[in-house]
Amino acid sequence: METVSDSSRLNKILRPHYLSLPQGDYCQVTYVWLDGSGQGLRNKTKTLDKEPKSIEDIPEWSFDGSSTDQSEGSNSDMYLVPVRMFRDPFTLDHNKLVLCEVLEYNRFPAESNQRFQCRKVMEKVKEHCIWFGMEQEYTLLGIDGHPFSWPQNGYPGPQGPYYCGVGAGNVYGRDIVECHYKACLFAGVKICGTNAEVMPSQWEFQVGPCEGIEMGDHLWVARFILHRVCEDFGVLATMDPKPMKGNWNGAGCHTNVSTKLMREEGGLQHIEQAIEKLGNNHAAHILMYDPCGGQDNKRRLTGLHETAHINDFSAGVANRGASIRIPRQVGQEQRGYFEDRRPAANCDPYVVTGAIARTCLLEGLEE
Ligand code: ADP
Ligand code: MN
Ligand code: MN
Ligand code: MN
Repeated sequence: METVSDSSRLNKILRPHYLSLPQGDYCQVTYVWLDGSGQGLRNKTKTLDKEPKSIEDIPEWSFDGSSTDQSEGSNSDMYLVPVRMFRDPFTLDHNKLVLCEVLEYNRFPAESNQRFQCRKVMEKVKEHCIWFGMEQEYTLLGIDGHPFSWPQNGYPGPQGPYYCGVGAGNVYGRDIVECHYKACLFAGVKICGTNAEVMPSQWEFQVGPCEGIEMGDHLWVARFILHRVCEDFGVLATMDPKPMKGNWNGAGCHTNVSTKLMREEGGLQHIEQAIEKLGNNHAAHILMYDPCGGQDNKRRLTGLHETAHINDFSAGVANRGASIRIPRQVGQEQRGYFEDRRPAANCDPYVVTGAIARTCLLEGLEE
């Protein structure tokens, strides 16, 4: 069985010739949006006469929602509303990637457009200057769906040498990680780090700190760039929270949170207040921490492999078996941020950050 895609094996020698052709003032703008699954990303490109200097210079566009599970064929046009612009790391300057919100024909948000609500919440809590940092774990797969570079029949040796590992026997697919990192920096995505994970072929990148709505925007574009880089290499990146059953770590999207008060002297008391509110809303948060209302995360949050059980809420300093961890340094300095370890790798960051902001800073989730 083939493990890398045919298109990744096309001869690429001529590609730089064409990509380096001058394009005058014309600018290619690639519109990126979330499809009806709430997990899949779509994109298409149009030419603008000149480089857009800001998001206001990029026109709205539309697409066929009946092909993305977002509308009926008889009334299929959906609006693409540009919301954040990045440099395009694939076709280079002055071409752009633009993240879009999707609106229906009546200009109501599409069902999978969770940004719409999130933005309203972030607007309401603006004075708290809420920051997020998300740790996106993911697993590389061959196009046959088997973890990249794992033996075709059987398993690699048990977990231990892989986390932050080095050497051909310990890490698989670093090319993708390094190319993704550079591409994000070039694009203007606030990527702040990366590491190899506990399960071989599993990796993590971190995005943040980002204020309010910015978190979801930057994480979704970082995911888009990851899938696009993987396409070049002919492999897949899955966000499944437990890609391999058994004694293998799952994949989460730890969400780090702080407000202005938490970051200031004596902030720990505000962190503790937030944790108490999160504890009172545990079940409701679990419903929102993966796209299947907790069903996906149930396979991961078993109480083993550095997780707390899905039905239990706990918090602790430096405790990676708790739902919420207070980093050791934060405990020492009595201020900083906390880490919600529950969100699944395939969560929608707009839903997760919106829920945390509502629970911790507004009257609660019904707000
Ligand atoms: P871990 O030890 O859990 O693996 P990482 O280094 O992978 O931690 O990730 C730390 C995350 O915390 C990063 O995404 C970073 O942006 C975020 N972060 C750091 N400081 C803050 C802060 N004050 N508020 C919110 N997030 C923060
Ligand atoms: Mn991490
Ligand atoms: Mn991790
Ligand atoms: Mn973490």
